[in-house]
Amino acid sequence: MPATAVIVHLDADAFFVSCELALKPELRGTKCAVGGRERGIISSASYEARACGVYTPMPTSRALQVCPELILLPHTFGLYSRVSKRMFDLCETLTPLVQRNSIDEGYLDLGPCGLADAPAVTAAMRGLQARIWDELSIPVSIGIATNKLVAQIASKLRKPRGFVAVEPGSEAAFLAPLDIGKLPGVGTKTEAALKARGVATIGAVLTRSDSELAAIFGDGWRAMLAMARGEDFRPVEVDREDAKSYSQQETFGADIAEFAAIERVVKRMIDELLPQVRADGKRARTLTLKVRYGDFTQETAGRSLAEASDLEAPFYPLVEPLLRKAWTRRRPLRLVGARFSGIEEGPAQLDLFAAEGDEKRRRLAAVLDRLNAGGGTARVRHGHQI
Ligand SMILES: [Mg+2]
Repeated sequence: MPATAVIVHLDADAFFVSCELALKPELRGTKCAVGGRERGIISSASYEARACGVYTPMPTSRALQVCPELILLPHTFGLYSRVSKRMFDLCETLTPLVQRNSIDEGYLDLGPCGLADAPAVTAAMRGLQARIWDELSIPVSIGIATNKLVAQIASKLRKPRGFVAVEPGSEAAFLAPLDIGKLPGVGTKTEAALKARGVATIGAVLTRSDSELAAIFGDGWRAMLAMARGEDFRPVEVDREDAKSYSQQETFGADIAEFAAIERVVKRMIDELLPQVRADGKRARTLTLKVRYGDFTQETAGRSLAEASDLEAPFYPLVEPLLRKAWTRRRPLRLVGARFSGIEEGPAQLDLFAAEGDEKRRRLAAVLDRLNAGGGTARVRHGHQI
């Protein structure tokens, strides 16, 4: 086993699109994107579409303007969480220490693998990357380093199908030439402000005195300095079975400010998460939303139902008020997340009077889940129509 920690960040490339292309390989190489006309937002774009100026989240109408030949694929509910589960299951065949960060990215701690040296680590991770492609047709990028921060920056460096390993001890040297905007928390505006003050690369941070850094970064300067040195002591945190929650988060390519767009993203997350809750035979009591601003500060707001549920109907009405409560600063958002907790064993105790309606909804939900599990063409979704 190597003397230092071996942390891997694994990040699927254009995940939703890749899931669709696995079912429709004839579309490989085309400018395509997952997004709804009715929902009106692009949630994932192929690299060919990105080269044409399409990014996420972008209103579908705008995407079709910048890329008129864009092939629009409807969001297949349930598909992405199923593929995600299989992808992380493959990761867990390698190490039990897997932290699922979001539907398409996570950290692996290879400590328990007992790999002898760097070539053995590389062989194991090349093997996993190949296996995920062979079995699921999902391209992933991999970053290997001694900590989460450097591994994450490494995985994003050569997408798609990237593979970047940073040798122990060379973290700061690896980061030094990179654009300052590659550091987590440095958004477009901060990046422009830093460049105006002569801090264009991560390495430039290390050339400044403490007092200069304090003047440039304010209270966060020590954290910024530690990041620039490639220091990060956060452990890979595995979800404990008894503290199980169901969560998703999405980082945006560009900060977004439109309330309706964020609300749609959150509802889509609910549409992805509750089928997982049902598939596990569980119910959730609490929905918590998280918003993160460009400067890395974040706010959360949560609310619990009187009784846990595995249905969409009781949770949808919470989205708007929770989002208003969490998003107090009304500045553009970098990230939004949704989390179901207060997980209980299902099925629900049937209330004598509510039973009929709820039972109807549950049966319909089960039918929708089965339809959605059946393949790539189902377009039915849960929601207010019930
Ligand atoms: Mg990804």
